[in-house]
Amino acid sequence: MTSRHPLVSVKTMTDYHLESFIRCPYKYYYQHVLLLNPIQVKWRQVIQFIINQVVQNFYQLPLDAQNKFNVLKLIDRYWKNVSPQLFESKVHYYMVLAKTTDHLLQFLSMKKKQKPPLFLYQKLNTYIEELETQLSLTIELAEWSTYSFTVKKFLVEADEEMIQLYNHLMVVFSNEAFGKLPEKIEINTLLEGKKYTFSPTMNNVAQGNMYLKYMKDLLQHPNDYTKTNSLTECRSCPFTHKCKDSPSSFKGINRRNEDFLH
Ligand code: SF4
Repeated sequence: MTSRHPLVSVKTMTDYHLESFIRCPYKYYYQHVLLLNPIQVKWRQVIQFIINQVVQNFYQLPLDAQNKFNVLKLIDRYWKNVSPQLFESKVHYYMVLAKTTDHLLQFLSMKKKQKPPLFLYQKLNTYIEELETQLSLTIELAEWSTYSFTVKKFLVEADEEMIQLYNHLMVVFSNEAFGKLPEKIEINTLLEGKKYTFSPTMNNVAQGNMYLKYMKDLLQHPNDYTKTNSLTECRSCPFTHKCKDSPSSFKGINRRNEDFLH
């Protein structure tokens, strides 16, 4: 950033702060440090909200009502109030509607009939001694499995960095809060229809702590923040008017990749 900024105090690290930071450190700064609340809502936030509502309501249905017909009814209930004007074009609107509908149907109809979930869209906190920070995250869906539990996340889209972030967060959080690791972490992306699975072991705990320590350090130093160079990200960002200069390279993100990609 161009002018000098004081250190940011990080008492709590939340999943949505970290996600916002990974998408663009400038966006994080506007949104979570300066607390600027954009009036303009962008399509990705709306679609993420709809996905959350559909998944949550679907899992709350009686087991014999958890079928494709009810997935479609839920999608229709939440989509009918979405304005096409939020999107880049009408084609974009229909493309997002078609793909997210198709992939929600696919992911939710693969569900095995079983007991009610262990957690369903539950926000949880725990203090992590090693990070001297409170960690707060929402577990969208956790289900009992043979040896422990599995966690599922449903995102509009996610790249490798986002997947890495959620895997580390879940490992560190579960180890501290439950004294147990999930047997499997599954991240489903609703635009591309991809499924990323990860089966953590205790070796991943130290790696997760290192990653989160590094993220905390990055969050604390706004003078080192650099803009994203992702045009896709900028197109769906409500702060474009604040970012008049052309996006520069993203030093922090690249360093993170080198240090933690496995
Ligand atoms: S417009 Fe682009 S560079 Fe600026 S805050 Fe948004 S995502 Fe970051």
